[in-house]
Amino acid sequence: MKRNHLIKPILDHNYPTVSHGKGIYLYDTDGKQYIDGSSGAVTASIGHGVLDVVEAMTEQASKVSFAYRSHFTSEAAETLAEKLSELAPGDLNWSFFVNSGSEATETAMKIAIQHWQEKGFERKNRIVSRWTSYHGITMGALSMSGHVSRRKRFVPLLEDFPSISAPYCYRCPYESSGCKLQCANELETSIQRLGSENIAAFIAEPIIGASAGAVTPPDGYYQRIKEICERYDILFIADEVMTGIGRTGKMFAMEHWGVTPDIIALGKGMSAGYTPIAATLVSDRVMEPILKGSKSIMAGHTYSANPLSAAVSLEVLAYIERMNLVQAAEEKGQYLLEKLHGLAERFDIIGDVRGKGLLLGLEFVSNRSSKTPFDLQDGITTRIVNKAFEKGLLIYPASGAIEGIAGDAVIISPPLVITNEEIDSLVKILEASVEELQHELH
Ligand code: PLP
Repeated sequence: MKRNHLIKPILDHNYPTVSHGKGIYLYDTDGKQYIDGSSGAVTASIGHGVLDVVEAMTEQASKVSFAYRSHFTSEAAETLAEKLSELAPGDLNWSFFVNSGSEATETAMKIAIQHWQEKGFERKNRIVSRWTSYHGITMGALSMSGHVSRRKRFVPLLEDFPSISAPYCYRCPYESSGCKLQCANELETSIQRLGSENIAAFIAEPIIGASAGAVTPPDGYYQRIKEICERYDILFIADEVMTGIGRTGKMFAMEHWGVTPDIIALGKGMSAGYTPIAATLVSDRVMEPILKGSKSIMAGHTYSANPLSAAVSLEVLAYIERMNLVQAAEEKGQYLLEKLHGLAERFDIIGDVRGKGLLLGLEFVSNRSSKTPFDLQDGITTRIVNKAFEKGLLIYPASGAIEGIAGDAVIISPPLVITNEEIDSLVKILEASVEELQHELH
């Protein structure tokens, strides 16, 4: 195979060629088997090679794959929007379809700004976000992202939206004074500094993924955040691109804290990787001034709401319900979490085990009692990910977990269809990888 024209993530890396997938497994063209322990980028939640989805795809494609949203609506897109409004909490009754998580968060930002404009608040257009966060790679989404290594190259072109600390309990800057949810109170300070008349929304990932490895906030955090947003008339956007559609053991991760956002961004698990589709879910309250005003949302892409992707997503949602996969995420997540705690007892380079459902993370440290991180130059994340890969296990890297300057973490997030026996196999490979790394380091 010619390998000189495709721009791959690391240009001089020799990637194996994927051949096919079934369930939690992927296979390369040399016949090697890999456990997809991260569902790719926390995406393939129903596993690979599900024929029900292939059938739904074929059926829709044989009717019509594409019709432009300015010309037609479609049965598939209308039904998907209706389904999401049933699943979503509160009055999140509207869906805007896009093709990636980045587009979903960027559209959320634009809808929030438009909401205030249509109410006559022209200046309410800044977004407040957190450091140690990731909302996407396009410029608007990257502006909101506190993922230092992904922003760095473009900083002069970005808005300085990240302004508050993440709820990173393992490395809490307020630890000495006990948890009084100061990390949430920082939002209030930030709003007071910037002026609520200048702020459209606050955005957060319910559980922090790509930038830190399944960092989970303390109880009460989101309740406090919501209170502050309401007090200052600021919309709350939950970026559920990674956490949404069952991954954490609830359909939406915000349900863990009983907090209903004004806008939700979805992606990844919405189609479980079978097609690119993502969505911005919007509440009646946010839509109201737009429905009364311009009656048109200033966003959208050529492929937005295309019938083929919508049909695929509908079948993925139906499959998740049929197979009871939200509950499975909770139960299997508990089993995997116990196993990961078991590994942490054996290996002192594992400093923290965290997450919810089947979105779990490990953080590596050079000294467990002082929580001293490894230097980024030691490349610990890459080394553990590569060791697992060699042994046939895929895990997701989150190096630079401490605001991009230090810290190593990985996400373990297998497909929700994984069995306990398969979890045992996953953990066995992970254990061998950590053992090898710890041996090299000591
Ligand atoms: N938001 C979150 C929370 C994510 O984890 C990601 C991707 O990892 C994105 C947004 C961006 O999604 P995409 O890569 O589909 O553009």
